[in-house]
Amino acid sequence: MSAVNNALVVGGGAAGAAVASLLAEAGVQVDLVEVKPEPTAIGSGITLQGNSLRVLRRLGVWADVQRNGYAFDTLGLRAPDPAGTLIVEMPDVKTGGPDLPATVGMPRPVLARILIDRALAVGVKIRFGTTFTQLAPDATGVDVTFSDGSGGRYDVVIGADGIRSWTRRSLGIHLETKAVGMGIWRAFGPRPASVTRTDLYYGGPSYIAGYCPTGEDSLYAYIVEDAQDRSTLTPAEQLAVMRELSQAYHGPWDEIREHLTDPSRVNYTWFETHLLDAPWNRGRVVLIGDAAHTCPPTLAQGAAQALEDALVLAELLVERDALDEALWDAFHARRTKRAKAVVDASNQLAQWQLEHVQGDVPGLIHATAAMLSNPA
Ligand SMILES: Cc1cc2nc3c(=O)[nH]c(=O)nc-3n(C[C@H](O)[C@H](O)[C@H](O)COP(=O)(O)OP(=O)(O)OC[C@H]3O[C@@H](n4cnc5c(N)ncnc54)[C@H](O)[C@@H]3O)c2cc1C
Repeated sequence: MSAVNNALVVGGGAAGAAVASLLAEAGVQVDLVEVKPEPTAIGSGITLQGNSLRVLRRLGVWADVQRNGYAFDTLGLRAPDPAGTLIVEMPDVKTGGPDLPATVGMPRPVLARILIDRALAVGVKIRFGTTFTQLAPDATGVDVTFSDGSGGRYDVVIGADGIRSWTRRSLGIHLETKAVGMGIWRAFGPRPASVTRTDLYYGGPSYIAGYCPTGEDSLYAYIVEDAQDRSTLTPAEQLAVMRELSQAYHGPWDEIREHLTDPSRVNYTWFETHLLDAPWNRGRVVLIGDAAHTCPPTLAQGAAQALEDALVLAELLVERDALDEALWDAFHARRTKRAKAVVDASNQLAQWQLEHVQGDVPGLIHATAAMLSNPA
């Protein structure tokens, strides 16, 4: 017995693919529409903390993640000096429990592929290059019209369509997504042997420079600056800017810079934030992941929170026998406070840097990690 027999998931990112897989695995008929023509993900690499690994293990893809990623248990802090001096190497909190690594880095497209393959394997019917054009909810279901002219009726519609969610807009929810004031350069490249964990360099001409190994042969490196309009730069100019900014950082960065030669592997984006107050549902349509909450990646928790939303929602839809207010109350009780704590802490960490305030960074990071160590 479950609260729904069928479900539509809008969006095939981390949140959408995960909730679709968990529901399908439990016997719910799941359709997923993804507006992009294929499962791609820009932005080179992703840092997966233990609490996201816990969800990925529950999804049945931990072995794939482990095989395709790079696991590590410490975090380094380095100085922006000519030697790239290692100030400290700290053990990272294992937020997924002692039997999972603290962190795994992996290429984003690989994670996207693993999640989509899992959804297909458990019977999710995925249509790429497709979205909805109309949602018409009533007391017992949601009538949906799709962009390919087809239609369907669903017990629940899950909007997992990211930061600029069309589902959110179609529900008439006006959520202001604000620029935080920082922009990030990211590049994907080969991993020098000296890079075996994430190191962060605070200070120098940029706010943060860092890197994360994503496999035996790969890493992504990043530099955070004041947000500016970089949209008019050609790819070659973007590469030149990132190389120039990186000149202040040494140690492993010297080797990373040597391989920073391919403009197609450089990406620039602004940090943005928003947080939807409860409720995240309107009747039988609910928002999860970035559609409901997003924040700068100062704690690398966006995808983790999206995955936790997916897990909690799927658990409730499968374990309960009615889609009623009690189910939504239980969902919000388990998700909104926790997601807000992550968004607030992530924004605070960015704000301290923007204002050049010496806040209690380790204290905030550890308090958040301690909270996240309890399963969602
Ligand atoms: C610079 C940067 C670095 C980050 N680094 C990390 C990190 O290291 N670790 C971490 O955990 N998080 C990180 N994040 C956050 C993380 O990327 C997001 O929180 C996460 O991808 C959200 O997943 P999602 O499934 O909710 O949304 P998305 O990943 O955005 O997926 C939404 C999907 O919906 C699709 N879609 C959109 N509109 C429609 C529509 N109308 N119909 C159908 N499909 C649609 C999109 O094509 C997309 O595939 C970072 C974010 C940024 C900006």
